[in-house]
Amino acid sequence: MEKTKEDLRRLLRRIDGKGYKAYKDIQGQYACDDFELHIDYVQGDPFASPSRLRVRVDNRFPDWAYQNRSREVALRDFLARQFARCIRRFAKGNRGSGKSGGIFIDQPGQEILERTAVVLDGDKLEARFQAGLPAFGRRIAGQQAAAILLDELPAIAGHSLFPEPLDEEVLLNHLLVNEDADALRSHLDGLGLVAFVANGALLPRASGVDPRPLEGGLPFRSPENMEVDIQLPNRRLTGMGIPKGITLITGGGYHGKSTLLRAIELGVYNHIPGDGREFVVANRHAVKIRAEDGRFVEKVNISPFINNLPQSVDTLRFSTRNASGSTSQAANVMEALEAGARALLIDEDTSATNFMIRDHRMQQLVPKEREPITPFVDKARQLYDELGVSSIIVVGGSGLYFDIADRVLCMVEYEPQDLTERAHEIASAHPQDRANEGGQDFGALPRRVPIPESIDAQKGRREKVRAFGIRSLQFGAEEIALSAVEQLADNSQLNAIGDALLYARKYMDGRPLVEALDQVMADIEKDSLDVLSRRKEGHYAVFRKLELAAALNRLRSLRVE
Ligand code: ADP
Ligand code: MG
Repeated sequence: MEKTKEDLRRLLRRIDGKGYKAYKDIQGQYACDDFELHIDYVQGDPFASPSRLRVRVDNRFPDWAYQNRSREVALRDFLARQFARCIRRFAKGNRGSGKSGGIFIDQPGQEILERTAVVLDGDKLEARFQAGLPAFGRRIAGQQAAAILLDELPAIAGHSLFPEPLDEEVLLNHLLVNEDADALRSHLDGLGLVAFVANGALLPRASGVDPRPLEGGLPFRSPENMEVDIQLPNRRLTGMGIPKGITLITGGGYHGKSTLLRAIELGVYNHIPGDGREFVVANRHAVKIRAEDGRFVEKVNISPFINNLPQSVDTLRFSTRNASGSTSQAANVMEALEAGARALLIDEDTSATNFMIRDHRMQQLVPKEREPITPFVDKARQLYDELGVSSIIVVGGSGLYFDIADRVLCMVEYEPQDLTERAHEIASAHPQDRANEGGQDFGALPRRVPIPESIDAQKGRREKVRAFGIRSLQFGAEEIALSAVEQLADNSQLNAIGDALLYARKYMDGRPLVEALDQVMADIEKDSLDVLSRRKEGHYAVFRKLELAAALNRLRSLRVE
């Protein structure tokens, strides 16, 4: 027979004051008034990571709230936010030792990402969260547990998962913004664009560590001739379309160049209403590229950019445990291309100068035979003409790029002007007598075959995968440094990526890396993020294949054939 909340109450009374291990007895499923409570896993002691629980309720939302994928993702995101808000409102918090009394749900930030904190499962809505089962010392605090599970939790679940009255307007706006952002991104390709920035968008952030919008920031306005008008399911938008090809963002220091690029970088994700970047979108395969000296590289063909290294180091299969600025940036480009990048986003602030430019004077002083690097300025055109890969490049410090740019934007007090013609006039009036060093064609892309045994998260007797914010992922005995992978937006993405690396091994049977990762992404698409774990994890958020590849490429134990 199904257990009820009264059974749970009795159980808690019985184990009150006993040793913490007795909590294991409450594992199981309980029918409460409006929901089912699942206690899936009970922590071993009050200081360990908290217990894993789920509540399941009948989905009482109207059809329009989940009638397509965009809306369903937005609804789930909305509910996870509400659940978190209700925890703050109803949970009394710490009561006892360790994590006693805390209730935690994976809380979204500025992005709207598909996440497993709240899922729609048939006609049920399910919230997955953690709770610290309370104790004094290591003795079970049964009364406190009853208060948390039978008083606070019903209030939290009730007010978040079937709110009455429902503020339809706020919810609907959340859904429609997400739906339109998805539609906008999917229109880009057909319009010949790699990115779109809506007029009125607010790009700057409150601070370097606060991703909320800057109060009083100047709203974005497109140069007139670059304005594109787009009809979306729920609104019509005008804004700046950045065409495919090579685009330069130039302008004086502190005039907003990096801010614009940063918004485009994060335009691979959707943003919540009020963020300011709701309708700033980029091609879904756009990748930020930067220098990352010190990184690990495993047998990557970087020869399009780097040749003739000292001591005849192989650049067709370049490996290092400590890359230089330029070689790391070259490896980042080549790995991104291997993983399917369609646009590269580069900022001079985080680039190696010698990777970006090499002028006439330097060509005189250091002849090509003694300079291993072919600068990006000599390869960007080939990248687009041969491979269709666009570039958006922030450069304020050099005019070398005028010759190859299809479009030159100039930021003037946070507003872009289209100075393409002027830049091209200057380029022909002052020709560079430097030689193009780019060679006949771009060159071959890497196509590596990973060895699954080199991906091992064993630590002691268990597999251990754990995200530390968005900067680092513990993977067994290794730590994958991800602070230079700037399009990771949420630590739940890292949780999912960590488990996806383990999952990917089953497809590493001699096929190329990208094909194995394609399979992982296809499985997630088909069966949701739940494929990554046997447990019902509540701390996953969706990620791109590009970031999955980036994490794999930074795993220092990785070996390829
Ligand atoms: P650049 O890369 O051109 O040197 P940044 O993009 O770093 O400049 O911007 C410089 C400063 O201006 C930052 O503090 C940024 O937050 C602020 N800023 C950028 N765009 C705007 C805007 N539209 N309104 C107000 N402040 C802005
Ligand atoms: Mg800058």
